[in-house]
Amino acid sequence: MAREYDIAKASGLCTACERELAVEEEFVVALFDTAEGFRREDFCKPCWEGRPEEAAKAFSIWQSRVPRPDEPKKPVVNNNVLIEFFEKLDGQDVPARINFRFVLALMLMRKKLLIYDGSGEEEGHEIWTMHFRKEQSPVKVIRPELDEEQIAEVGSQLGALFEVET
Ligand SMILES: [Zn+2]
Repeated sequence: MAREYDIAKASGLCTACERELAVEEEFVVALFDTAEGFRREDFCKPCWEGRPEEAAKAFSIWQSRVPRPDEPKKPVVNNNVLIEFFEKLDGQDVPARINFRFVLALMLMRKKLLIYDGSGEEEGHEIWTMHFRKEQSPVKVIRPELDEEQIAEVGSQLGALFEVET
């Protein structure tokens, strides 16, 4: 029975025209950086194309598709979207953003895109040095003081924004 609710939830509404997105319809996801955190908005293609000002304001943009109810796997967000988001969070000092970046690093490690090289300390923070599998340049990630439960919580926020398993 829970399964039926999951399927009903999967088809969202277009933020602009409030139309329910059809099964297999392609749509645009935009994340906006707000004072309360990242806000996700889904747009149907015609609405999105008429909104260049929204496109200019968005922190991240990607395309998605409403899955068929019988699809074994939901469409997954492109890894490049996650990597771009991760890189844009570099240097941000808001704790929530530091947490996001760290949990995203764990996710990218599990996908074997980011490789852990070691850890050290800088300005009172534990810093993980890593690199992308295809690049040599070091990537530094602040390891915030989060316990397992908090990591899972941040992971579920990321999961909701990107519709990914965390
Ligand atoms: Zn629309």
